[in-house]
Amino acid sequence: MNLAGIDLLAKAPFAEGDVFLGGRWTEAADGRTYPVYDPATGELIRQVSAAGEEDARTAIGAAGSAAAGWRATPPRRRSEILHDTFELMREHTDALARLIVLENGKAYRDAAAEVGYAAEFFRWFAEEAVRIDSSFGDAPAGGYRHVVRRHPVGVTAFVTPWNFPAAMATRKIAPALAAGCPVLLKPAPETPLTALAVAALLTEAGLPEGLLNVLPTDRAAEVGSAWLGDERVRKFSFTGSTATGRLLLEQAAANVVNVTMELGGNAPFVVCADADVDAAVRGAMDAKMRGGGEVCIAANRFYVHADVAAEFTEKFGAAMVAVRAGSGLAEGVTLGPMINQPAVDRIRDLVADALARGARIAAQGEVPDGPGHFHPATVLADVPDDARILHEEVFGPVAPLTTFTDEDEMLARANATVHGLASYVYSRDVGRALRLAERLEAGMVGVNRGLLSDPAAPFGGVKQSGLGREGGREGIEAFLETQYIALDWPV
Ligand code: ADP
Repeated sequence: MNLAGIDLLAKAPFAEGDVFLGGRWTEAADGRTYPVYDPATGELIRQVSAAGEEDARTAIGAAGSAAAGWRATPPRRRSEILHDTFELMREHTDALARLIVLENGKAYRDAAAEVGYAAEFFRWFAEEAVRIDSSFGDAPAGGYRHVVRRHPVGVTAFVTPWNFPAAMATRKIAPALAAGCPVLLKPAPETPLTALAVAALLTEAGLPEGLLNVLPTDRAAEVGSAWLGDERVRKFSFTGSTATGRLLLEQAAANVVNVTMELGGNAPFVVCADADVDAAVRGAMDAKMRGGGEVCIAANRFYVHADVAAEFTEKFGAAMVAVRAGSGLAEGVTLGPMINQPAVDRIRDLVADALARGARIAAQGEVPDGPGHFHPATVLADVPDDARILHEEVFGPVAPLTTFTDEDEMLARANATVHGLASYVYSRDVGRALRLAERLEAGMVGVNRGLLSDPAAPFGGVKQSGLGREGGREGIEAFLETQYIALDWPV
C-alpha cells in the first residue's frame, strides 16, 4: 500500500491484504476475512483480513528481529521519523478524517479534530525521544557510584478501541517508538482502516520494517492471548472497557507483563452556583457531545447547583436540541451515528430506566429515520440517584442532570463510583474550583474547560479507570526500564 492507499482503503481491496506485518502488507495466514461496516448506512465498507494466532506469533518474531536495530538507532533519528509522521498526518488530515468518519461514524469536524490530536502525539514524542534522562552520582555511603540508566522495555503490544481509531493508536505508538520499542497493534474490529493508514504514513516517513505491526481482526481474544502468553512481549497497553481490561490484566499476570490500562469512566460535571452558566453550557457541549458522547472522558452525569439549575437546564437543552444529527460527512452535521445498533439499544435502556424512576426529558434533538444507528441528543432532568444512567457509562449523547446545594454531599455522590478518569468543575471562584478538583477522585479534572485531552499532559485514571498515564512527560515512562549499575573502580 502506498499513500494513495489512504483514499483507496475505503474503496478498494488491496491485492496484498491488510495485515501489516514485518513491513509488508499481507493476508491472514489462514486467509480469513471479516466485514467492516459503515455505521451511517449499515453498508459493507470492505472485507478486511482477520489475523489469528499464527499471525500474532509471526508479528512478535518480526518485532523481536527489529528490536536491536531500533534500540541502537540514535534518538535523534527516531525523533525525525516521528516528526515526519506528524507532518504527513497533518498533510493528509482530510483523507484520514474521511476514513475515520467512514468506519466510526463521528461527525467530520470531530474526525478532523481527532486527526490533529492524534498527529500531535508524534510531535510531542518526537520531542521527548531526545530527552530520556539517565543519572550518575556518588553512593551516600561513599566508595562507589550509582549509574541509573533507562532503556527500552522491549516488544510492546497494544489493543485499542473504536471510538478514536487514530488517536488511541498514536497515543501508544508514538511514545513506544520514541523510547526505542517495536510495536504490535490490534485495532478494534470495527475500525481497523485508520490504524492501517497510520502504518502507511509511518512507513512513508521511513520507519524501518518490523517496528510497527498492525493486525486487524475479529478474533481479538486469540491475538490478545497469543501476545500476553509469549514472554517476548514485555509491555502491554490497553484502552477499552473495564471488563475487558480486568480480563487482560489477569492474562498479563502469567508472564508478569508491564501494563498500562486506560479503562472506563463515569465523569461528573459540576456546575457551581457562581459558574458562568454560558461557559458551562459550552463546556458541557464539548465534554458531552464530542464524538457523539462515545468518549471515555465524556461528562456522564451533571451536578448542577440548585441556584443555577433552571438556567443551565434551559440553555443546555437549547444547545442539545440544536445539534444536527446525520451522516458524519453531511454538511452541518455535528452528531453522527452510534457505532452500532447494540450501542443505541443500551443507551435507550438507560434512558428508559431513568424515566421509569422519575426522571423527565428536558430537551431532545432529532435524528434521521435511518439508515444508520442514531440516538438523539437528550437532556434528562430530575434524575434520581438510583437511576442506572448515573452509575454506568452512557457512551452516547444523553446528559442526565441532578442538582445539589451542599458541596460535601455533592462530592460524596460524585465520588461514589469505582471509576475515576475525568471530572469537570465550573466556578468563577478559582479557589473553590481547585478545592473541588482536589477532592474529586479523578486522574484528570477540567476546570472551566470541557476539553482536557492534550498530548503534552498525562492522561489516565485512578481507581478502576486504569493504571499508568499516557502523554505528557509521563507518557514515555511506560516504555522505559530503569537499570541501576553499582559502579566501583580503583581510584
Ligand atoms: P468495546 O465495548 O468498545 O468493544 P472492549 O473493551 O471490549 O470494548 O474492546 C476494546 C478493545 O479490546 C477492542 O480492540 C476489542 O477487540 C478488544 N478486546 C475485547 N475482548 C478482548 C479479549 N478477550 N482479548 C483481547 N482483546 C479484546
